[in-house]
Amino acid sequence: MDLKAPLYKRFEKYAKLDTQSDGDSKTFPSTAKQLVLARLLAAELKAIGAKKVKLDKFGYVTAEIPATVKGRVPAIGFLAHMDTSPDASGKNVRPQVHRKWKGGDIVISRRHGVILNTRNCPELAACRGEDIVTASGDTLLGADNKAGLAIIMTAAEYLLKHKEIPHGPLKIGFTPDEEVGQGVKHFDVKSFGASAAYTFDGDVAGAVEQENFNADGLKITITGKSVHPGTAKNALANAARIAADIAASWPENLLPETTEKREGFVMFTDISGGIEKAELSGIVREHDLKKLKAMERQLAAIVAAKRLKYPLARIELAFREQYRNMNAIVSGRPEVMKKLLAAVRAAGLEPHVKPVRGGTDGARLSFMGLPTPNVFTGGYNYHGRYEWVSLDGMNKSAEVLVNLARGWAE
Ligand SMILES: [Zn+2]
Repeated sequence: MDLKAPLYKRFEKYAKLDTQSDGDSKTFPSTAKQLVLARLLAAELKAIGAKKVKLDKFGYVTAEIPATVKGRVPAIGFLAHMDTSPDASGKNVRPQVHRKWKGGDIVISRRHGVILNTRNCPELAACRGEDIVTASGDTLLGADNKAGLAIIMTAAEYLLKHKEIPHGPLKIGFTPDEEVGQGVKHFDVKSFGASAAYTFDGDVAGAVEQENFNADGLKITITGKSVHPGTAKNALANAARIAADIAASWPENLLPETTEKREGFVMFTDISGGIEKAELSGIVREHDLKKLKAMERQLAAIVAAKRLKYPLARIELAFREQYRNMNAIVSGRPEVMKKLLAAVRAAGLEPHVKPVRGGTDGARLSFMGLPTPNVFTGGYNYHGRYEWVSLDGMNKSAEVLVNLARGWAE
């Protein structure tokens, strides 16, 4: 199966549209420019012959590829997000293809000094001989997640042309605002009508993900006591300094900058205030829910010690649940991963199951009743100027999708 040409054609078209989302926006979708791509995708789905194509008021694009086999085959869904990260510019993206990469430097932009190689990105090493797509040095590429859109659209077109491939009903969903954590907030799981789904979003060929972080937010509020510094002895409680003391007391080996893989962390994201009042906020992340709770108790113990140290201040600590590890749901439906691993192997790759150090739309969907692990799209270095995607990896990803469709009909 070689779909590299249509994959690239679509990818380039999508990448040239600026669809950056905005975390400060009060609207949904967060930016109107995402709807430009949504309308284009809806029109394209109609053109390739997909059924029940719909663009709703939230900007969700959904469609169906009817079953080619009779009988009770479960409907499965394929999802990708339309927005790109607010972390780097997504305006005037100019993709370029570095054909049959031989190893060595990939010059994204000499002028901007953006050079990609296996020293600054070891993940690239597996892609020797492949066609590598990058941006041009001053923007992100937006392969996260326009690669996912191109893969789903191109595989859908392939399946619609090849009705001899046996599969059940296939549902397609394109969603906005993943990068600002709101992607599936209004998604109607029931009317989508799938019994399991897969997001096609990120990572190198072979990677699949069924685990993400458990995530809580934290807020520490400190009420101090202001006294003239000249007469402050044993009478002043300086809230801002206490906040700094608490942040500095958290162990350095449990921070995002000192942890990897399955290690959890606390990150203080914001500290503000003065003598009378200060606030320290942050996030707690850990794949294992028990360990997450243990880290929270550890922070609570630090806060309790500071209450004794600063009896004139009032210190409050609160945690707020953000999202949970989808493994709790996905592992309850073992066939969902079993079919995925078989589909990856059938594409000639050895699946690499790895935990995501973040959240995914699939995690939220899983807890909304639709188990949704993630499938690679063949790229890396997302959200920045060094972002790249392999066309060969995208092709493998499209093959996995077709294999999944077939596998669920067996
Ligand atoms: Zn993404």
